[in-house]
Amino acid sequence: MTLVTGPPQGPATSRIGTYRDPVTAPSSRPPAAPPTVTPRTITPRFDPPSTPALELDEGLPAAVELLRGRRVAVITGAGVSTDSGIPDYRGPDSPPRRPMTYQQFVSDPDFRRTYWARNHVGWRYVHRTQPNAGHRALARLEHAGVVVGVVTQNVDRLHHLAGSRRVIDLHGTYADVVCLDCGHRVTRDTLAQRLEALNPGFVEAVGAVADVEIAPDADAVIESTQGFVVADCDVCGGMLKPEIVYFGESVPRERVDRAFALVDDADALLVAGSSLAVMSGFRFVRHVARSGRPVVVVNRGATRGDALATLRVHAGTSETLTALADALAPA
Ligand SMILES: [Zn+2]
Repeated sequence: MTLVTGPPQGPATSRIGTYRDPVTAPSSRPPAAPPTVTPRTITPRFDPPSTPALELDEGLPAAVELLRGRRVAVITGAGVSTDSGIPDYRGPDSPPRRPMTYQQFVSDPDFRRTYWARNHVGWRYVHRTQPNAGHRALARLEHAGVVVGVVTQNVDRLHHLAGSRRVIDLHGTYADVVCLDCGHRVTRDTLAQRLEALNPGFVEAVGAVADVEIAPDADAVIESTQGFVVADCDVCGGMLKPEIVYFGESVPRERVDRAFALVDDADALLVAGSSLAVMSGFRFVRHVARSGRPVVVVNRGATRGDALATLRVHAGTSETLTALADALAPA
């Protein structure tokens, strides 16, 4: 339900666009959740052993056998986009990174300036990013009637670009921006033109753009953001924010409901490239496992759903999903 790492929150009924200044925020919002990549852990009633992970040569035929003849819902995480050049900041080989929190964004003007300056540079990269074989395999499986849809934790829109039709962007997308004061929406494309006009020459001054490290949410790591001018809402002058669910925010209830409906359309669940570290994704695995339907997890490294998985395949998503599509949706 929530990406927050701090104290528990109320029900996820708020739309992002309804958020207000933290001074007047509802008391159910925690004050300044600590920024950390460590998720809030769930206390299990018991501690079942993890399902052992198989390598691709054994795992693939087992996955094909398990999924054949079933309608499959898919949950994807950052791991499916790493082959498109978008780093997975939770992956086993990733450096520790502190994701932005909602409270930081709304309460600190300097933080916001830095955020938008980096986003202004990073945007160019994410915009150029292309789907990889894993995205294309899932689109192929959907067109063949095997996959019923994709619930993604990624904000990169690569499933849409690959041709998947039924996609729920659980955490929003980088392509939309919303005013926190009046709810007015603009596309990130439109905002890019305004930021460019407000900050002529900024990108060039940052230097070798090609060497800038990009995070999954179009955040580029650059040294100096001094002097960057942030764009405000052109309707009310309010605070603009990417329509992405950040740490400290809840996924809108309506979106959660659509994701559950998608998952309940299926006979099985396939998790691809997610460690399921955040509750917003893990809840679906728990839900499907409790219903007695099979759960297949394809991921490099351990996941929070390992004890609930029917089958675990320890392999990259591009090769595994392609092989699955070749077996279940031959051309
Ligand atoms: Zn506004």
